[in-house]
Order: sequence, then structure tokens, then C-alpha cells
Amino acid sequence: MTPPEARSMLAKIKENQDRLFSCKRHEFGDVPMPFEMGMTFRCVRCQGDMKAIDAFRYIQGYEAAGRNPNDILNGYRADWKGETFEEAWKAFEAQGFMYGRDALEQVRFGWNIAKGLRTAS
Ligand SMILES: [Zn+2]
Repeated sequence: MTPPEARSMLAKIKENQDRLFSCKRHEFGDVPMPFEMGMTFRCVRCQGDMKAIDAFRYIQGYEAAGRNPNDILNGYRADWKGETFEEAWKAFEAQGFMYGRDALEQVRFGWNIAKGLRTAS
């Protein structure tokens, strides 16, 4: 590799890093098929390229924060249900929140909207 080639390669790496760091939330669309080890995913938002292994770690961090990993990669976890309202509300009760039934139903209504659930239950 000549020095100009090396500089060009470094510039491309930096450009990709800048894209990835400037992106608020990556979204990789569908899992490319056939899936191959060592492949790269392109974010549809920032056009940055990320190695699949790094993308999976990114998705796992997103999921650990309580978010749906399928937002990032379609079908990553087809059985994802997330935290139930009851599980989430327990954390608020532990902080001292004590709501009456009507108020709690309003909170649940907001929860359902946030989760994209249509049924109130
Ligand atoms: Zn991105």
C-alpha cells in the first residue's frame, strides 16, 4: 500500500466513524440473507457501516435499556415482549408511588400508547 492509498483508507475510516458517532439511533433494517460471519450492516439513517458483531452489541445494549431490539434490526428477536406494565410499575411503587385505581389506569393507558399496544387491559 502506498502512502496516498493509506491516507485515503484512513480518511474513509474516519468518515465512517463520524457518521456512526453523529447518529442518534442506528437502524439496520432487515437482516441480510444469507447471513455471513464477518459481514457489515449499513445504518439506513446515517449510512455508516458497522461490523455485524459490533451491531449485535449495540442492539444488546439497546435491549438492556428496555427497548425493543427489533427497532434496530428487523426480526432480531421475534419473540420480544419487553417488560410488562406490572413489572415496570413495581419499580415506581418501590419509590413510594401509590396511585388509586383510576390514576393507575391512566398511567397504563399512557404505557400502552408508548408501547404501541392498542388494547387497554
Ligand atoms: Zn446510524
